[in-house]
Amino acid sequence: MKKIIAVLIIAAPLIGLSQIAKTSTSSYWQQKVKYVIDVDVNVETNRFSGKEKLQYWNNSSDTLTKVFYHLYWNAFQPNSMMDVRSRRQGTIEAGGRLDWDSRVTDRIFNLKPDQIGYQKILSLKMNGRSQKFKVLETILEVILDKPILPKSNVIFDMDFEAQVPVQIRRSGRDNAEGVRYSMSQWYPKLCEYDKQGWHPTPYIGREFYGVWGDYDVNISIDKNYIVAATGYLQNANQVGYGYEPSGTTVTRPAGNKLSWHFSAPNVHDFVWAADPDYIHLTKKVRDGLTLHAFYKVVPDSIKKQYENLSATRKLQFQNNPDNYMNFYKSQWEQLLEMVSEALPFMEKTFGKYDYKQYSFIQGGDGGMEYPMATLVRGAGPDVVIHEWMHSWYQGMLATNESLYAWMDEGFATYAESRVYKWLGLLIDTSFIHAETYKSYYQLVKSGKEEPLTTHADHFNTNYAYKLASYIKGAVFLEQLGYITGAEARDKILLEYYRQWRFKHPDVDDFMRIAEKVSDMKLDWYKEYWINTTRTIDYSIDSLWEEGGKTKIRLLKTGSMPMPVDLQLTFKDSTKELHYIPLNLMYGEKPIEDPTIPRKTYTPWPWTNDTYVVESNRKLADIVTVEIDPSKRLADIERKNNRLELKW
Ligand SMILES: [Zn+2]
Repeated sequence: MKKIIAVLIIAAPLIGLSQIAKTSTSSYWQQKVKYVIDVDVNVETNRFSGKEKLQYWNNSSDTLTKVFYHLYWNAFQPNSMMDVRSRRQGTIEAGGRLDWDSRVTDRIFNLKPDQIGYQKILSLKMNGRSQKFKVLETILEVILDKPILPKSNVIFDMDFEAQVPVQIRRSGRDNAEGVRYSMSQWYPKLCEYDKQGWHPTPYIGREFYGVWGDYDVNISIDKNYIVAATGYLQNANQVGYGYEPSGTTVTRPAGNKLSWHFSAPNVHDFVWAADPDYIHLTKKVRDGLTLHAFYKVVPDSIKKQYENLSATRKLQFQNNPDNYMNFYKSQWEQLLEMVSEALPFMEKTFGKYDYKQYSFIQGGDGGMEYPMATLVRGAGPDVVIHEWMHSWYQGMLATNESLYAWMDEGFATYAESRVYKWLGLLIDTSFIHAETYKSYYQLVKSGKEEPLTTHADHFNTNYAYKLASYIKGAVFLEQLGYITGAEARDKILLEYYRQWRFKHPDVDDFMRIAEKVSDMKLDWYKEYWINTTRTIDYSIDSLWEEGGKTKIRLLKTGSMPMPVDLQLTFKDSTKELHYIPLNLMYGEKPIEDPTIPRKTYTPWPWTNDTYVVESNRKLADIVTVEIDPSKRLADIERKNNRLELKW
């Protein structure tokens, strides 16, 4: 009997300890990859053959019996899912026009065999043994002969060949500006496996998600092509073209082709672009960071751009295409100067840019973000700042864009406005997110809104996707500052960066940081703003005087509760802020403007439709009463937020 008790006493604390260790350290894990890819490009046929060696670490506690790869370029074939969806959108009306993506429309349907894209798998081995696989358009399903055990790694060897599609969306050849190769989604890319399992998302032209790891890429291409890429060039002295350290003699090997060797550590994708006429500019902006720009000047395509400008825009160039040409060139020439001015603010506000290189590459069809690089059409500040901000929101903080598009597009849009203001490029600086809020209100009125929890590919309309992810996602952050105070919101962003860079954060990870930093409960904000399409509407219901004091009754008519800032302005120009936290917050925001006295009320229970506040001043002293003069509350009916008293 005694013996048994002794065993129990010893055993009990052991069980307890191991349980604690499990919950505190093993809650987050991520898979890891190491790619070695060699491709040989034929610029006549626009095809290439490739070898891809992929070392894959299964850091999960699951046994994997299958793996999946993306074969994105198979989307660029008539009747592909992307083609079918695109043509369908052309029959739907949203936001006052047909829901086409103007870059795609029916262009895929009309591709000829030598214009389509494809990625063909010739062979696939795991640890030297051939594996069975199925091609399901843009997804490769591999049925493994032996499972990949938890905490183990395997090596996949693949031979493949590909044809570069005519540029339709993001990747391809010969885009509108005449860039020969915009090479995104160009290699068979392993799908991500995370706590939600595999993500074999069929490609319809939208968002991405990749496994963290290292890339070693060799590109063999005609000698006169200049290559821009994710990753650091390892053989600059054999390549030249502005990559070599100044004063070095470049010795190119004999032959018609040149091999470019890039290494990219700790990224989740790899992009490259190539053109014989690229102009390559570089600028060292601080210790350990060099920026690159790659662009070309094709007079015909620039002329075409000018012709497509609106009449007012043309007038800005005195109706002279030459002026537009000079403007176009100067934007590229001054690009690195402009962005390096923005960098200190970006790093101070959003965290350090933690790679040694970033490249602004002309290519693609608008602006698209990749690790250490972006493909852009022009060098306009709005586009390049937005894309570079994606190095934070998606590049380093690698959310699953398909599931949380608002966490990269919305956050980048939000950040872009702040950087834009800092650069002095905004005309109206009174509320820098005014345009963003305006677009959100339009989305609500359109009746097309869908919750932010919608998978990016599955929104009914391009319109709803775009406004939800870019706009409602940006409003999320600015409005978070209304709830927590702007200073706490900025601390949240930095703490989010500190804890989650080089990982895959999701919405709950962000919300937990926000709650800890602000010392508030914010789950309700996520539940209403992200999970539903509920809207906010508060109004001033009535005012009256009682015993020399003024009482003001506020009314909640919207379906989403929020804390309320009510500002009174008096005849003598003094102000009072009446602050009513929401009861679900279990906290209150710190005073944001110490020049205005603030009265803090007991929290407004979310079930209640009305709340009465009280000022010691007489009713006749009041000039204006306004709910949220900062305009950060996304109140869909702002007209009833402000009352001007005329005496
Ligand atoms: Zn974006």
